[in-house]
Amino acid sequence: MSREVPIELTEATNNSLPTSRFELPIITPDAAVLKRLEESCSTVLTDDTSRIDASRDWWPISIKWAIGGSVPALPTVVARPASTEEVAKVIAICSEFHIPVTTSAGRSGVCGGAVPLFGGIVLDMIDMTGISDIDDTSLTVRAAAGTFGPPLEEELRTNGFTLGHWPQSFDISTLGGWLACRSAGQYSTRYGKIEDMARGLEVVMADSTVIHTGFNAPKAATGPDLSQLFLGSEGTLGVITEARLSIRPLPELSDHRTWIFSNFSDGLEACRMILRRGATPAVMRLYDAQESTLHFETDAGCVLIVYDEADPGLLSWTLQVVDQECAAQHASLGDNGLVDRWFDKRNDVSVLAPLYKSGIVVDTIEVAASWKNLPGLYESCMSALQSLPETLYASAHLSHSYNDGACMYMTFAGQPTDDQEAEEQNPSELYYNAAWRRTMESVMSTGGSISHHHGIGIQRASYLRTVLGPAWPVMESIKNSLDPEGILNPGKLGFSSYVCGTPWP
Ligand SMILES: Cc1cc2nc3c(=O)[nH]c(=O)nc-3n(C[C@H](O)[C@H](O)[C@H](O)COP(=O)(O)OP(=O)(O)OC[C@H]3O[C@@H](n4cnc5c(N)ncnc54)[C@H](O)[C@@H]3O)c2cc1C
Repeated sequence: MSREVPIELTEATNNSLPTSRFELPIITPDAAVLKRLEESCSTVLTDDTSRIDASRDWWPISIKWAIGGSVPALPTVVARPASTEEVAKVIAICSEFHIPVTTSAGRSGVCGGAVPLFGGIVLDMIDMTGISDIDDTSLTVRAAAGTFGPPLEEELRTNGFTLGHWPQSFDISTLGGWLACRSAGQYSTRYGKIEDMARGLEVVMADSTVIHTGFNAPKAATGPDLSQLFLGSEGTLGVITEARLSIRPLPELSDHRTWIFSNFSDGLEACRMILRRGATPAVMRLYDAQESTLHFETDAGCVLIVYDEADPGLLSWTLQVVDQECAAQHASLGDNGLVDRWFDKRNDVSVLAPLYKSGIVVDTIEVAASWKNLPGLYESCMSALQSLPETLYASAHLSHSYNDGACMYMTFAGQPTDDQEAEEQNPSELYYNAAWRRTMESVMSTGGSISHHHGIGIQRASYLRTVLGPAWPVMESIKNSLDPEGILNPGKLGFSSYVCGTPWP
């Protein structure tokens, strides 16, 4: 229930700070600004350890950099506010002195979203925690943005409720981070993504005003929903300080199933039909043959694991639909122990650091597509990844489903060859960037969405304007209007950065 780093940083030999990988202009607040910050914010840190900790997140390529002793980018100051009022004061100072301010929380983002590209101030949200209200009549909770997954869910459970949001990073990520990245939990097919749960937000704007979006009501027809503007904005449009979310009573019963398909496309068809009939099992994960072997040590075919929790009548009907649609695709019932195995291992990513240490580059890419486009997207992405000579492994599973489509979650791993090691440019980065570029191009050409829940950060920043096409200027004018000085998380989401007049990318 706290922050974790993906790998320890190899220490600099001469006791100096690690080098930064991005060579961008770094904005350093002066002593007068520091004094103002200290007067306004409960905790202001300038020590090396705090700055180094705030220089990186779980962006996989930065694991490689950490092994080499460097970090993405160092901030000058870490400000850790204890209240919305303090957030507003810090933002007011940043606005007055044109200092970039990068909001960070769990730092579990995997696209570099919390990296302070232009230095300045990291606004660390983890002291703003806790639930302030549970409305057990209307089923809503109000909680502070810096609350990590475990304390939030534990308090809800104590009161007989659940949020139903279980990202793999549950232990190391926060409510604000989930909202800022449009996070998806492993049970999202029943409970929805975080943006489906959000009913209203408190946000500190770039000019330090505090606004509240949403109403004390489930829905409204009062113009566009302003909450949606900040959901997924990754710290570039405002700082989310609190949220009101929909919750559910703790489910009465749970049950699970394993089905094995002879091929991935039959499995996809069964999943499509399950959703089409209105069944929404909390967990429904279909693994292709490679991942079925890797995770479940079976070469019998493609594994589908299903878990649901609900009122007994709903649960029994849901699993009936699952069984009927899997049987209709000639699947065979598998060992239910595979679901238990998934539960045991589902949040274990301890393999990542050793792989990187052994010279293997590995990452995951989650995208989404309609049921119509999903089979083509899968084939196209797999062949794009496998066509790279360094690729050792490429696979995918279906992880979050809707009645109109689903999320495809891909994994790739590769090892640069000896020849490439001799080249000037870092071979790991060359391979990493090529794998990402080919996958993004395949997704765009097969009509998919380039991210389902990890967001844009730095890694996908160069694709967003292409994806949005004529809608991109609308995004840019929203940014320019809400943050005219460009102080909020500059360099992210593909927005042009005005810090020191340096454009990004
Ligand atoms: C092992 C692992 C598994 C993961 N599994 C999942 C998963 O299953 N589902 C999923 O959705 N994601 C997953 N992620 C990605 C990550 O956990 C999510 O993106 C998460 O939402 C980030 O939350 P955080 O608190 O760590 O935010 P950070 O990493 O600290 O920040 C992420 C972004 O949000 C912004 N931000 C953070 N807090 C605020 C705020 N209060 N106001 C405004 N902006 C803010 C930051 O500026 C940054 O751009 C996983 C990551 C890891 C490392």
